[in-house]
Amino acid sequence: MTDVAKPPSTIRLELPISGMTCAACSTRLEKNLNRLSGVQASVNLANEHASVAYDPASTTPQTILTQIEKTGFAVPAQTLDLQITGMTCAACATRVEQALNRLPGVEARLNLASERARVRYVPGLSTPEALLDCVARAGYGAIPITEAGRAEEKARKQAEYRHEVRIFTFSALLTLPLLVQMLDMFAGHATAWLPGWWQMALATPVQFWAGRRFYTGAWHALRGGGANMDVLVALGTSAAYFFSLAMLILAPGGHLYFEASAAVVTLVRLGKLLEARAKSRTSEAIEQLLALAPRQAVVERDGEAVAVDSAGIQPGEVVRVRAGERVPVDGEVLEGESGVDESLLTGESLPVAKRVGAAVYAGSQNLDGLLRIRATGVGSHTQLMEIVRLTEAAQGSKAPIQRLADRISGVFVPAVIGLAALTFLGWWLAGGSLTQSLIPAVAVLVIACPCALGLATPTAVMVGLGRGTQFGILVRSAEALERAERLAVLAVDKTGTLTEGSMALVGMEASNGLTQDALLRLAAALEQGSTHPIAAALLAAARERGLALPAVSGFENRPGVGVAGEVEGRRLSLGLPIEPLPLEGGGVGERVGTAQPSEANEHPHPSLSREREADVAGVTSIYLSEGDTPLGRLDLADRLRPSSIAALQRLAGLGIRPVMLTGDQEGAAAAIAREAGIAEWRARVKPQDKAAAVAALKAEGRVVGMAGDGINDAPALASADVSFGMASGADIALEAADITLMRSDLNSVADAVELSRAVMAKIRQNLFLAFIYNVLALPLAALGMLNPVIAGAAMALSSVSVVSNSLLLKRWRPRHGEAARP
Ligand code: ADP
Ligand code: MG
Repeated sequence: MTDVAKPPSTIRLELPISGMTCAACSTRLEKNLNRLSGVQASVNLANEHASVAYDPASTTPQTILTQIEKTGFAVPAQTLDLQITGMTCAACATRVEQALNRLPGVEARLNLASERARVRYVPGLSTPEALLDCVARAGYGAIPITEAGRAEEKARKQAEYRHEVRIFTFSALLTLPLLVQMLDMFAGHATAWLPGWWQMALATPVQFWAGRRFYTGAWHALRGGGANMDVLVALGTSAAYFFSLAMLILAPGGHLYFEASAAVVTLVRLGKLLEARAKSRTSEAIEQLLALAPRQAVVERDGEAVAVDSAGIQPGEVVRVRAGERVPVDGEVLEGESGVDESLLTGESLPVAKRVGAAVYAGSQNLDGLLRIRATGVGSHTQLMEIVRLTEAAQGSKAPIQRLADRISGVFVPAVIGLAALTFLGWWLAGGSLTQSLIPAVAVLVIACPCALGLATPTAVMVGLGRGTQFGILVRSAEALERAERLAVLAVDKTGTLTEGSMALVGMEASNGLTQDALLRLAAALEQGSTHPIAAALLAAARERGLALPAVSGFENRPGVGVAGEVEGRRLSLGLPIEPLPLEGGGVGERVGTAQPSEANEHPHPSLSREREADVAGVTSIYLSEGDTPLGRLDLADRLRPSSIAALQRLAGLGIRPVMLTGDQEGAAAAIAREAGIAEWRARVKPQDKAAAVAALKAEGRVVGMAGDGINDAPALASADVSFGMASGADIALEAADITLMRSDLNSVADAVELSRAVMAKIRQNLFLAFIYNVLALPLAALGMLNPVIAGAAMALSSVSVVSNSLLLKRWRPRHGEAARP
């Protein structure tokens, strides 16, 4: 369910693209890339990336790069700084350098003193992995210093921006006198007070220096077999400029339009300038995340604390983090106790208590004590960087709604040129002078730029997804966002999703001559290999009673059913009661609930008291048996999360119908469903049957979501239209989920749906804003009612207003705070 459907044998490239100026560019590149056999490409104008999946059997990266160049764009080389380890002398440095330089598209320079290599490589021809691999094969170690690349990219963008500002200032200064004179003439002065040759002297540098990029852009586009906004601007302004020049030479004294050509160039550049500034703000969320990981850290080396660059920390090293400092690595607490603010990972602002053995994450903040941490994940191998990578990948994905905009902008430019020609002809045939015919045609060319159209969707997606990440809502793709907007039915898992998931042992009944302690001892022994909340509860209870647990062998985890294994030579199983025989004509053990629990009619454990079967509210019973012999029952209490009720009400308010799916027994399921106010539920559903249940809901033809913990709910998550994976702790590796929620709280699902609706609403507004300019202004321009100068201003305004409108999404925040409290 990714944006680019890929057959199993494809390789995926993420390529930065330079030289794209408008939606027509990205559409054309996408079309040309998709024309290559075995290639599926999606090009994003807002973040200037192409995502290309190709079949290595039919295409090579080189062909793809050539195609990009032929279309008139480039893949700028990337820089990767590597910290090289294991070098002892200059000869080593030379070896590493030579090895790297032998790779295709790679240029490496090594500094022995700092033990750093600066490698420039062409993405597509080489990857960071290939570079690391190459160093390793040469016999050395390499650690990427990732922030360096980003910093460089940022510096380059800033330099570009300053350059833009200079050009604009220059061109605005030259244009100003021309505009003043134009306004003066509007105000009634019949004659121009600037001599014609002066006007030309002012307009010429603007046209050919400030306007150079339109000519080069247009040339690239035409050479690549298409047209873009540069073609329109170059054509329009050249028409006004050369017409005026001809008048000046051939018919001195006639009306000149130098102010039109100069003002359009200046205004369009202004629009690009403002757009670039606004666009750079769309990735602020990522920058804020990256800023969380400290650059400097204190590590213990040879028993001494030394300050180092965080990028140089090795896994296994011990890091010291003082109160108030941020944690530089993912790791495990060796010593110390403290409250840690993990809000970046979870969106939850309450500090989490950490003691010896606890996992801590890069970017979280140590609030009070001193912590000694053994690094397990460093550099780019941290949860934080994983979040950044996922978010960036999602921000670059293409929302289906954008296809429409792409199609339109693809045909827009040729259509506009045709319309401009018709406008000219129309006026000409109606007896207009050359001026009367030319100027409306110029206005048509200028007003019709489809830039705003190309920015409408991706900027909103970038800002919206970045914002979501800041609140612990990790959306995997723009497509998932689009589906989440239309969510109508939500299947929810019970344990750990609706309920706390932290259970407590509240009762036991031992049979077959066992004592309660012996029962618990065997059960807890079995659970040593499980991560289920039930396991945690039994292990805690055994620890409390001081029971020493025997080892388990042949351990078997049966998701959604229980666990089995051999303890002290006895083959034991623990979990749901042994399944009742299939009921006549009915399914195995699955019962569909209504508001009232169905009465259990088949007792699977005849030796245990029958009343227990219809469980007490929130009590889950599991059974230990040896072969067919029951050994006892353990009762565990799980509480409905206090926030679940409010969350379900919010979901109802959003028009979403909840359906609870649980592997637990009817009694426990009914009790929780009643308490949570869920009318529809199914009990004793095994993980694979949850997928079938989701499929059945989908058959009703509505958009079905699934919220679960991602471990044993993976099949169901995968079969849902939109899956919400509740991350436990900071484990975000929920491959199956479209949207990963860092807070295990159903309110986050409501937040995610609200975010998706906010983003989609923003996209629709943007598309409207982008269209309205063109649609309203085109006829006015054709009818000669729109001065080209105003057309230029409108065009600049249109992309700026679209990007600024997207930036308003930065104000979005989840409502869970207020909603969770009654
Ligand atoms: P849910 O669908 O509510 O999340 P699960 O699918 O995790 O529940 O588990 C369903 C049932 O399977 C539990 O109620 C329990 O009876 C049994 N079970 C699952 N895992 C274990 C385990 N590790 N130990 C004992 N029983 C288990
Ligand atoms: Mg579960």
